[in-house]
Amino acid sequence: LSGRLSGVIDGLGKRGALSEADVAEAMREVRLAMLDADVALPVVKDFVNKVREGAVGHEVLDSISPGQAVAKIVNDALIDALGGAGAVPLNLNAVPPAPILMVGLQGSGKTTTSGKIALRLSTREKKKVLLASLDTQRPAAQLQLQQLAERAGVMSLPIVAGQAPLEIAARAMDTGRREGFDVVILDTAGRLSIDEALMEEVRQIRAATSPVETLLVVDAMTGQDAVNTAKIFNEAVGVTGVVMTRMDGDARGGAALSMRAITGAPIKLTGSGEKLDALEEFHPERVAGRILGLGDIAGLVEKAADTLDHEEGERLAKKMMAGKFDLDDYVSQIKQIKKMGSISGILGMLPGMGKLKDAIGDKDLDTTIFKRHEAIISSMTKAERKTPDIIKASRKKRIAAGSGTTVQDVNKLLKQFDDMSTMMKRINKLGMKGLMRQGLS
Ligand code: GDP
Ligand code: MG
Repeated sequence: LSGRLSGVIDGLGKRGALSEADVAEAMREVRLAMLDADVALPVVKDFVNKVREGAVGHEVLDSISPGQAVAKIVNDALIDALGGAGAVPLNLNAVPPAPILMVGLQGSGKTTTSGKIALRLSTREKKKVLLASLDTQRPAAQLQLQQLAERAGVMSLPIVAGQAPLEIAARAMDTGRREGFDVVILDTAGRLSIDEALMEEVRQIRAATSPVETLLVVDAMTGQDAVNTAKIFNEAVGVTGVVMTRMDGDARGGAALSMRAITGAPIKLTGSGEKLDALEEFHPERVAGRILGLGDIAGLVEKAADTLDHEEGERLAKKMMAGKFDLDDYVSQIKQIKKMGSISGILGMLPGMGKLKDAIGDKDLDTTIFKRHEAIISSMTKAERKTPDIIKASRKKRIAAGSGTTVQDVNKLLKQFDDMSTMMKRINKLGMKGLMRQGLS
C-alpha cells in the first residue's frame, strides 16, 4: 500500500500550485494508508478533511516536486496531530511523593510499563520510586509487580492479603510520604472490556491520591477499539498522558493518532518489548512515517539544506566511503547531527526507517551522550583520534580522568565507534539503497 501511495505521489508531476484533483487523489491514498495503519475511522476522516483544505492551492517550490510537496504537507500535519515535534516528558511536579496512576485494559501492559517507568526514573533521574499494585482481580498480579520491582531494583509496597484497591492506594501514599519516596506508581487492575465497576474503582483511587499523571496504557495493536477505550477512560478519570505498548510488533501505530485525537493528551512513552529497558520517548515524526508507510524525503532535504554545511557533509561522506573515518570526523559529525536534530529524527524521515533503525540499532540517542562523547574525544591525543586502536587500558584511564568520565564511558564510546565503522563498511559494500532494501525486506 505504501508503494501505491508513493506511486500516486510520484505521479504528481506538474509544477505550480497543487490542484484539487492532485490533492484529492493523494488524499484517497493517504486515507487508505491510515486505515491500514489502524487509525480509527472518525479520526482519519477528520484528518484527511483538514489536510485537503490546507493543501489545495499550495504553491510548490521549484526545488521540490508537487508529490514531495503533498508528502510534506501530509507528514507535517500528521506529526502535528500526533503532538508536534519532540517528546513530552513525564510530569513529576508535585510535593513528593508524586503519584503516577496507571490505567488501561487488562493485558495492555500496565504492570510491565510500571516496572519500566520505575527503572527509568530510578536510574536516569535518580528518583526513589515505590511500586504498588492495586490489582486485586488477578491473584498473581501483585506478585508480578513485586518481581518486576526486584528486577528494576526499586521498592514495592509489601503485599497485605485481603486489602481492597483503595486501601492499598492509601497505604502506598502513606508509605511514600513516611519513607521519603519521590514517586509512587499505582498499578491498577484492568478488565478485558470496560465496565462501570472498574471505572468507579479507578475514579475513587484517583480522588484519593490526586495523581500528577494518569497514564492510559494502550496496546499499539488495538485498532478501531482504541477510540472507545480512550474516550471512556478519559471521561471517567481524565487522562494526562498515553503510553503505547507493543510498538515492537507489526502495528503501524495508528492507535497513537486516535489516542491523541480523542484524549488530547500527549503520548508520553512507547513500549518496544517485554524487557524493562524497552521503554522509549514518543517520537511523533517516527510514528507519522510508520503510519503513512512513507518517509518525508522532502522534509529531510529541506532540513538538511537549511542547516547542513554541504562541503563538510561531502567530506565526511567521502571519508566514510573510503573507510577513513576517524574520531575527529566523528566529532564533526556529532556537530552536524546536533544542528539537524536527532539521528532518530533524521531516520524518521526516511522511508522504511523503522526497520532501518533496527538494523542500525539506533536507540534514543540523546544529546547528553553526544556531549559526553565530545568531551572524551577532546581529551585524546591527535594520534589516538586518528588511530583509536592504540587506546589501551592506561590511555583509557587518562582520557577518562581528563574528560571527567569513567573508563566504562570511554569503552562505550570506542565500542560504538567500532560498531559505526562496521556499519559503514556494510553501507560501503551494499550501497545505501542495498542497505535500505535489506532493512525493508
Ligand atoms: P497489564 O494486564 O495491563 O498489567 O499487562 P502486563 O504488564 O501484565 O502485560 C501483558 C503482557 O504484555 C506481558 O506478557 C508483557 O510482557 C507484554 N508486554 C507489555 N509491554 C510490552 C511491549 O511493549 N512489547 C511487547 N512485545 N510485549 C509487552
Ligand atoms: Mg497488570
